[in-house]
Parts: sequence; C-alpha cells; structure tokens
Amino acid sequence: MRYFSTKNKRLHSNFREVLFQGICEDNGLFIPEFIPQLDRSFFDTKMSYDETAYNMMYPFVSDFFNKTDLLEITSSAYCFDTPLIHLNNKLYIMELFHGPTLAFKDYAVRFMARSMEKLLDKEITILVATSGDTGSAVANGFYGLKGIKVIILYPSKKVSDIQEKQLTTYGKNISALEILGNFDDCQRMVKKAFSDSELKNRLNLTSANSINIARLLPQSIYYVWAWKQLNQKKSPMTFSVPCGNLGNITGGIIAKNMGLPVKKFIASTNYNNAFPNYLESGVFFPKPSVETISNSMDVGNPSNIYRIMAMYKKDITKIRKDLLGLSFSDEDVKKEIKKIKLNHDYITDPHTAVALLGMKKFSSFQRETNSQVVLATAHPAKFCNVVEPIIKQEINIPIRLQKSMKKQKNSTIISACYSSLKEFLIET
Ligand SMILES: *Cc1c(COP(=O)(O)O)cnc(C)c1O
Repeated sequence: MRYFSTKNKRLHSNFREVLFQGICEDNGLFIPEFIPQLDRSFFDTKMSYDETAYNMMYPFVSDFFNKTDLLEITSSAYCFDTPLIHLNNKLYIMELFHGPTLAFKDYAVRFMARSMEKLLDKEITILVATSGDTGSAVANGFYGLKGIKVIILYPSKKVSDIQEKQLTTYGKNISALEILGNFDDCQRMVKKAFSDSELKNRLNLTSANSINIARLLPQSIYYVWAWKQLNQKKSPMTFSVPCGNLGNITGGIIAKNMGLPVKKFIASTNYNNAFPNYLESGVFFPKPSVETISNSMDVGNPSNIYRIMAMYKKDITKIRKDLLGLSFSDEDVKKEIKKIKLNHDYITDPHTAVALLGMKKFSSFQRETNSQVVLATAHPAKFCNVVEPIIKQEINIPIRLQKSMKKQKNSTIISACYSSLKEFLIET
C-alpha cells in the first residue's frame, strides 16, 4: 500500500515513512492510494473490537506488520469497552470515552504509538498542537516509551482545568508548552517547525496530530463496530459526528469506502462552521477559530477537509450525497444537555451534545427508519465546569481523572511566535 500527497499524485511513500513523516514534504496530507474493500461477510460477523481492528488495519500496514505484530498492537491498544447506549427508538449513543484519557482520541493515538514503537530505529521528537483532548491522549499514549520525546503545544487558558492537568502532569518524556495564543496559533507553529528542514532533521520531528495517517486509519474501526453490534443486516446507518479538524468523520468515510453500509454522515459543528459552509456553498473559506463550550471542536481551518476533497476527487455533488453539515450555538448545546438529562436521565458532554443536535435536526426533515448512531467523544466529567451548572448535579469523576487532578501542573509558557518555539526546541 502506498500513500499519496493530497497536493501531488506523484509524491508517494510507504506506511513506515508516512508514520514518521506525518505531513508530506509538499505540505500535502497523505492518503492511501486506494481503499481496500472488505467482504460483506466481514461486516456481518460478530467479533471482538481488537479483531475487527486487526481485519480493517491489515491491508493498510501489511508491508510492515505480520499478523502477529498487528494483533499485538490492536489487542494492547483496545483494552477498554466501546458501549452502544440505546437512547430511544432508533437512536444510539456510541461511547468512545472509556479509554485512559476519557476521550475518543485514545483510539487513534494508542494505535499510532504502538505502531511507532515497533518500527522505531532512532530517537524521535513528537511535536503536537492540541485544542485539549489530543494532547492528553498523546501524552498518555507515549508516556514512558523509550526513544520518543513528546512536546505538546496548547493554547493558554483555552482548555479546561481537567484537560490542562492531563497535559501537564506526566513528566518523564512528556513536556507541555503553554502558548499565549489560540489553537490555530499552536497549529501554525507546529506546521512551521515541520517545514523548517534544519530543525526537522536535527530533532527527527514527527507529528501526532490527526494529520498523521496512523491516527486517521484507526478512526474507521468503531463505525464498523457499531454496525456489528446493532447487527444491521440490511439498512444503512446514519452517523452524527462532533467535528473539529474532521479526522473522526474522515475515518467514517474510509469505513464506508471499505464497504460499510452508511446512509449519511452528519458533520455536526459548533459556531466554527467552515465545513458546513463549504458543503452548502461548495467553496471553502477557512476562518479564525471562535471559542465555544465544546472547545475541542474550535477549529477554523480544518486540515482534513483536503483529504475529504481528495477522496471524492473534489466532486461536491458526491460529497453532499454522503455528508450533511449542521452548526449549532452554545445556547442550543446547553439546552440539549438539559433536555437529554431530563428526558433520558443521560449526562452528555458539550461535544456529544452538538452531535445529538445534528442527528435530531437531520431526522426532523426526513422520516428516519434506519439506525442512528451519535458518536460520544468525551466523558462529561472532563467538562464538568460546563455541564454541572446546566444539569444542577455533580458528575462522578472517574478515579483515573481524580488522580491527575491532584498532581502539580508543570508547563513552560511561550509567546505565539515560531521563534520562541524554535528556541525552546533547540535548547532542550
Ligand atoms: C478532537 C475532538 C473532537 C473533534 O474531532 P475531529 O477529528 O478533530 O473532527 C470532538 N470531540 C472531542 C471531545 C474531541 O476531543
């Protein structure tokens, strides 16, 4: 399997190269040269999560991993549950927050970290920009691994207290940089470091953002898992995905291309609606990000849009057939959190609430008889500051989160300019 740049079909690399390179040398994103098709019998057979993962990932990595290697990776990566909660009628919530950092990014990062561990041949530095949850998943996924140093950039005062603790309390091979700016600044600084070839070669810089193909591919697995659990032999399902940088939903599109019967993907966003606007107008205008209560989705210039465009050969009609974009205000989200608690006695975090709104709006303009799955991307305890005042009730904080809350924050504050980042990287 070869991987091509979204900018140039002639530039291509193998899995090992794209795993460590992250972004292509022309600044394009890597996409697989083709999406392997799996037999219908695979989709309709029940199997464990890690076995599902193994079957789906094998065609993408078979040049480097034999079956034993890959099964080792998937079984150690996916040692937690992925429950589907039945809300009502055809509506299910797929809880993707039972991993170690209580957010769905664990699925991707744990796969990537274990793949890197197996294929590593020299010391590397992982540089990652986070709007919250990526950073903690990366810190956890790589913590204590030999030969891998991790540096996390996060926007100062724009992540929740719990998120900040999860980013800044690991120590050992993990360092946190607190940037006096927003997420887009962090992302810009990281991109610049990767295009600085002197620095890149000196430190063997590697990315762990959702731009890394090894982060993207495993995000296709749980869509298939939902199908297997609900045992939908015939009618395609609809998924509503809380979207930021569009990595999660791109995983869904990959699953569909592998053969999963999907009726529609709802790309649900907060105020940061560059993607819904693109679907409506056919023209993509990146915007500066706006702060919302679903802060892990505060992305104004979602990188994975270029992968989506490339996978559909820029045919907006085809994209619209599969995807619908809907955007919601913080006020809508607060009301939804309250409603879900009242009607279903279920506590949802603000990101998941955006996706719930998306699914409800979608079903309001057409009668829905197929299964609907809303992806729940974070545990509500991670956003208790927002959720508790709305539901007027305390949320039980899982033990592993309580532990990091008690630790001392340890970060280095730097300004939002590239020279400060470069200085820090060279000095340490
Ligand atoms: C990262 C994140 C998202 C957005 O996912 P993308 O793949 O960037 O679209 C949604 N919800 C939570 C809780 C997240 O951490």
